[in-house]
Amino acid sequence: MAKEDYYELLGVGKTATEEELKKAYRKKAVQYHPDKNPGDKSAEEMFKKVSEAYDVLKDADKRAAYDRYGHAAFQGPGAGAPRGGGGGGFHDPFDIFREVFGQQGGGGGGGIFDEMFGGGGGARDGGRDGADLRYDLEITLEEAARGAEKEISFRKNVSCERCDGSGAEPGSKRVTCPTCRGAGQIRRSGGIITFTQTCPTCAGSGTRIEKKCTVCHGEGRMPKTVKLTVRIPPGVDTGSRLRSGGNGEAGLAGGQSGDLYIVLSVREHELFERQGDDLFCEIPIKFTLATLGGTIELPTLFGKGSLKIPAGTQSGTTFRLRDKGMPSLRGSRQGDQLVRVHVEVPQSLTAEQRKLLEEFARISGDANEPTSKSFFEKAKKFF
Ligand SMILES: [Zn+2]
Ligand SMILES: [Zn+2]
Repeated sequence: MAKEDYYELLGVGKTATEEELKKAYRKKAVQYHPDKNPGDKSAEEMFKKVSEAYDVLKDADKRAAYDRYGHAAFQGPGAGAPRGGGGGGFHDPFDIFREVFGQQGGGGGGGIFDEMFGGGGGARDGGRDGADLRYDLEITLEEAARGAEKEISFRKNVSCERCDGSGAEPGSKRVTCPTCRGAGQIRRSGGIITFTQTCPTCAGSGTRIEKKCTVCHGEGRMPKTVKLTVRIPPGVDTGSRLRSGGNGEAGLAGGQSGDLYIVLSVREHELFERQGDDLFCEIPIKFTLATLGGTIELPTLFGKGSLKIPAGTQSGTTFRLRDKGMPSLRGSRQGDQLVRVHVEVPQSLTAEQRKLLEEFARISGDANEPTSKSFFEKAKKFF
């Protein structure tokens, strides 16, 4: 099978700049990431392909070789062992993904979630941006309806106060990295082309700390429990996400802080079941009330409400209380409360009640039960 063109895979032209390549790759990588397409083999295949394409094109040397020789550039002897028809010598697609999305190890617990939001963004002015974090917050239906302020506390990496995030003991200097001699990259020869790799010793910065900070041990950051007040707008639902800019992990060496994403889940309510912006509930009423009609008091999420029950209401009838449902997040009309009445038949009667009901039955005959009458009319043909 012929391999697809790397430029076509990323959807860019042959003259695309580094920035355009990166942008195109980010878009495709998020689209095809296995976490977003669980069990989808073709998406996984595409994820690998776009990662491979980007791995080659982001590297000036590899790109030049590809432009000149096409895929053959990477299939020659010494270019790495070809595996399964794919190009040999390529990085793990997940490594490339992490590299581009600036994800750093540790902290967070957000995993791919962090990366999907494009958290980090990689190097900027030599620094590394902090990862985005996710916090799962459970709220009640009342809080979802009225809005709320909640205080949350969580652990995250903050900039080290002793070294101001540099990782170097105050007073000590940064020295040139001995592995890459300050270049930030090391070159490896692989057949007809040369691979360039980020220096593993200094992670591309080209310098090393002479003496590590005694508090953060050179990390530049340290874990700390922080508190934050979260304002929840009315109308949120399970799965709603709130973004708190800059409240993710601290960046390294001047990099920007990530963002915090609060993912809400609304606890089940004893009385109300949410149906979009409407709230559904079931309420028992007496059979005399259903027959004679009247007004009942009933709970709403916003306090006590009342509902008019017309005479002759059947069990299972649903009434609508306007604007007593959930506020709409999208700013459209507030939802309604839907009330389904359930007519209760008394299970025990006093002697007086029985006497009155028997009298009622006697004088009414079968004239006032149209539904059951028509049923028995139809049923006659079966007897
Ligand atoms: Zn420190
Ligand atoms: Zn180095």
